[in-house]
Amino acid sequence: MIISSIEVFPLTLPMLQDFRISSGSVGDKQAGAPHVYVKITDKDGMNGWGEARPSHRWSYETIESVTATINTYFTPALIGKRIDNFSYVHQVMNREIKSGLTVGQPIAKAAIDTALHDLIGQRNKKTIGELWMGPTNSTINLSYLISTRDVKEAVQKATDAKTKGYKGLDVKIGFDPDHDIYMVDAVKEAAPGLFFRVDANQGYTVAQAIYVAKKLEKLGVDVFEQPLIANNLLGHAEIRRKVHIPIALDESIWSPGDLLQAFRLEACDTAVIKLTKMAGLHRAKICGEIAREAGLDLLGGGLTESTLGLAASAHLFNYLQISAPVDLNGPFFLADDPVSEGPVREEGTVFLGDRYGLGCKVSSDKLQNYTVE
Ligand SMILES: [Mg+2]
Repeated sequence: MIISSIEVFPLTLPMLQDFRISSGSVGDKQAGAPHVYVKITDKDGMNGWGEARPSHRWSYETIESVTATINTYFTPALIGKRIDNFSYVHQVMNREIKSGLTVGQPIAKAAIDTALHDLIGQRNKKTIGELWMGPTNSTINLSYLISTRDVKEAVQKATDAKTKGYKGLDVKIGFDPDHDIYMVDAVKEAAPGLFFRVDANQGYTVAQAIYVAKKLEKLGVDVFEQPLIANNLLGHAEIRRKVHIPIALDESIWSPGDLLQAFRLEACDTAVIKLTKMAGLHRAKICGEIAREAGLDLLGGGLTESTLGLAASAHLFNYLQISAPVDLNGPFFLADDPVSEGPVREEGTVFLGDRYGLGCKVSSDKLQNYTVE
């Protein structure tokens, strides 16, 4: 298969509500949310789609950097190349954009990687799961995301989620320890019995995290995600020695190498698998497989991608057989989505179906509407 063209569509998608994490807004009802779609066409005229969802409040990548990196560096390096395997694709991209402390510009690389998976699925008339010869089960449970500091609103959302049949909650904390604990307590009481994941997005110091972890343990929270800044693996190991609640690492693990370092330092019980931070399906799958073999638990998440990114992630989590409800809530924040046909989403569940590749049809009208210069 020879790559003939790579088209990049920087988009601002309209949002239904704001989305905040401890480091700030990652999507705004007024301004919309930055997404980048990529279309790769081969010499036979077949194509595949991929998505990047950069947020400068979550990592250093932006809509501008993703667009420029693909157009200026990846496209000239990949056009005309025969793509036989994904290790080679990543070698080419990693030669163009070097690593920093960990993989360089993984979100831009993920858009190319997922578009190629989609294209190869189309060419071979197989779903992603079939390409990987994975399990055939194609239903994914979602967790409901709560990202507000207003306790009343959080309780209302938790109650709604339970009523709608969600199996898990993901609550964003990492702002103020006592207020965070107060909110988690209220939410837990409003929606008992659900899988309960709290995510501090690097918001605490070691002392704050230990204080919060001990309270969360008493409240029966299932897992405490990324309490400290990403590069503080020793701090996470210290927390693990002092508390019993499982500690999950998300922003600390971008690559198989990061995962191995975290494992060697005993810094986590659980690894959060996300295809965009891990530069796409190929390397996220490797991370998931290593974590599984190492005896770690797995959680699945996304960076609020639209339905295209959700579909790619859902294929991955289905393959990895992640049992805890996964955090793939991007489409629920959006007022409109460039995917016109794709996996069926009902409240709390995604049904992948048997369409080839990622299983999504992208609307060119919507792309045109939301493309920004
Ligand atoms: Mg997280």
